[in-house]
This record gives sequence, structure tokens and C-alpha cells, in this order.
Amino acid sequence: MSNLQNLRNQQGEVNFRRKLAKQFAGQEVMYPGEPSYKQNLSIIRGRVKDYKRYFKSLISHEMTLEPYLEIGSGIGQGAMFLEDQYKTQGFATDISYDTLLLANHYKDKLHFKKMPFRVCCDVYNLPFKTNSLPFIFTVETLHHFPDPKPVLEEIYRVLAPGGYFYFNEEPVAQMINLNLWQRDRNLRWFEKILRSLLVLHFISKIGKSEIENNILEEAFSLKTWEKTLNVFDAVQATLKAFPYGPISVQIKTPKKGWPQYHPVRGWLNPPLYKNILLQILGGGIEALCKKSEKEAKPPIQKNVVQSSAPHNITSENFYGARQTPSESRGRTRGFFEGGERLSEQKLFELLACPNCKQKPGLNYHKSTKTLSCPICKTTYKSKNGIFMLFSREQMAKLYPEKVKGQKSKVKISS
Ligand SMILES: [Zn+2]
Repeated sequence: MSNLQNLRNQQGEVNFRRKLAKQFAGQEVMYPGEPSYKQNLSIIRGRVKDYKRYFKSLISHEMTLEPYLEIGSGIGQGAMFLEDQYKTQGFATDISYDTLLLANHYKDKLHFKKMPFRVCCDVYNLPFKTNSLPFIFTVETLHHFPDPKPVLEEIYRVLAPGGYFYFNEEPVAQMINLNLWQRDRNLRWFEKILRSLLVLHFISKIGKSEIENNILEEAFSLKTWEKTLNVFDAVQATLKAFPYGPISVQIKTPKKGWPQYHPVRGWLNPPLYKNILLQILGGGIEALCKKSEKEAKPPIQKNVVQSSAPHNITSENFYGARQTPSESRGRTRGFFEGGERLSEQKLFELLACPNCKQKPGLNYHKSTKTLSCPICKTTYKSKNGIFMLFSREQMAKLYPEKVKGQKSKVKISS
């Protein structure tokens, strides 16, 4: 079996989220088991609070938060919060155009001032230049892939040297679950009883509508997570047994002079009793990953430190006191010369053609508000403020109706 999302999964993401977007826009109820418009609004408000916590902890690492790239932004509340709170700019991306479009509605509802720059794209083929973005994040996204590793590899590609990738709310697989049926977000009466008896969690799994619509709902073993995280040069991972089990922090870090190190096997391995709890209950994982300053992957072996006492390790000596140029000018500012607000033009310079393997930069034409590739000559037009940056082949498979409508607009010259 391939470790990539197949076309059916991707079409599921596009088509299911399109129907769900109607529900979340308060237009019609397509899935009674999924949150209603009102429920979703309160879920999203809760998410904003989560993002607030996440970014606050990231700020303590003195890292650059812009230009950022969010993967699997959905409605975009994470990106909107980041832009509002920290005056940053960047990209909110998702494979679902319809969910990104919902941002128009939710921005006002949540009282955010600025709309993030939205790009509809495929995470396996990110339309960004290699080594271009200093901060990438995603929340509750990686479990929709059969294997998170290829996703992290593509993220690593576009991440700037010295940049950070952060993810949270991803599942660690539970060893015992009879998986007798899949349940919705909204529990049925007998599911509520089973939950109060503390057995629901061991005999049923969440994600009914997703699975019925070919969307993957995965949970990964610690071994898979470890292999995945090894894509990066330094990682701080936090594991939590579900739902309120003990927190176990695992750290992988070079002693000094990194990136001359390579992780030992089994670094993501909590103490025995925590491990057992995690296996029985399942849990969650959060990680902050760093790409080394040097572009080349570090050579193998030596200088590996494994610590179960993370509290003694400050962010400075954990990640090394290296700073990107922007960090010397302030925590969240900078990256580009001058430190002033990024111009649209500067942001567009980070984009790359999804249609060309060598990922050439795109030209932005202000008058027509279009992007074009100097190599394959494809023109990309935004629709309701969202750029569709897929390869031509992928676009035809995922959004055939938009290709038909766009044919006259997409110029293909030799
Ligand atoms: Zn091109």
C-alpha cells in the first residue's frame, strides 16, 4: 500500500468538506451527526483559544513567526489569530477550497481584522520555493494521511534553514480498541451511556462521516511518529495520554555544535508506566521541529542527548542560540530587510509553480491580480481571494468544474 493519500482520499477531502462547508455556513444541515453551525462556531472559538496557547508557548522560543505557512487551515482561524495578535503575514492553505472560502464568514464572526492570504493546494506538492518559509504550522491535520512522513518531508523542503515547524493535536494510536463502529462528533444516546461507563473509548472510534466519505482518520504508533520526526534536525515532542493522562515530554537534541548528530533509535520512548498508559488509552502528540541552519542534512551519528528531564533545558541551549537575521530585530518581526510589514509582492515571491518540478518562482501581475509561471506559462487567477495552486493534472482531478470554468483564463502557450 502506498504511504500517500490516494486520489479517492483527496477527492473525499474536497467533496465532503464542500458539503460540510454548507452546514458550517448555516445554509443546510447535511450531516446531523456533525456539529451544527452554532456548535461549530463555538468549537472554532475554542480553537482560537488553543492557538492562543500554542503561539504563546512558541514565542518563548524566540522564533520567527513570519512569513508563516499554515497547512490544513480549514476555516483559517489559526492564521487569522496569528495575523491579528502578532501582526504577521503569511499563507493559510488547505486542499478544500470551500472550507477556505468559509473564512469570509468566520472572519467577521470572530472579529478578526485581516484576511490571511489563502492558497488552495496539495501538501505533497506545496506551491512554495525550497528553503523559503521560516515558520510552518499545522493543527489536527496529519492524521488525515496514511503516513505523516511524506508530508513532513515536503514541509522540510519549503522550510527555511533555521526555521521551525510546529504541529499539535495529532493522535498516538491506541493498542486496544475493538473498533466495533465509528461514531460521529455528536454522540447518540447509547454512546453517551457507554461514555459514562468509560468503555466507549475502547470499543468505538471517532470519524464516521469522514470515513464514509473516503477521508482517512488515522492514529500512528510512537514508532511511526519517531520515523516521521527524524525528517527534522532537532525535535521537541510532547506526548499526552488520552484524555487527561500524564504528560511525558521527550526531547531529541544535539549536545552542541549541531547539526552534526543523528538521532538514536528509540528516542521517542516514554518511561514504562507512561508508555503503557499511552498504549492502552491512546493519546496525543505535539512537536516543535527545527531545520538546521545548514541546508544539507547532517552527517550521521554521535552527540545524541536523550533527556527525560526537559525542565532543566531552556529553549536556548536546547535549540542552540542560533538566530535567523529577523530574530535579532524582534521576536515576530522581520525576515525581510527593514522589518516593516511585508508587501504583497514580497509574499508572492515565496510562491512557486506547482506545475513545474523545479519549482520556479511565480510572477505577480498587479493589474490583473494573477500569477504566472515563467517556465510553463500557466496563469493562476484567484477566485474569491483564493489562489488555486495545483498542478494542471491535479486541478483537473480535484476541481473539474473549476477547470471547465477557467479554461479561457488559463493560458497555456508554448
Ligand atoms: Zn510552471
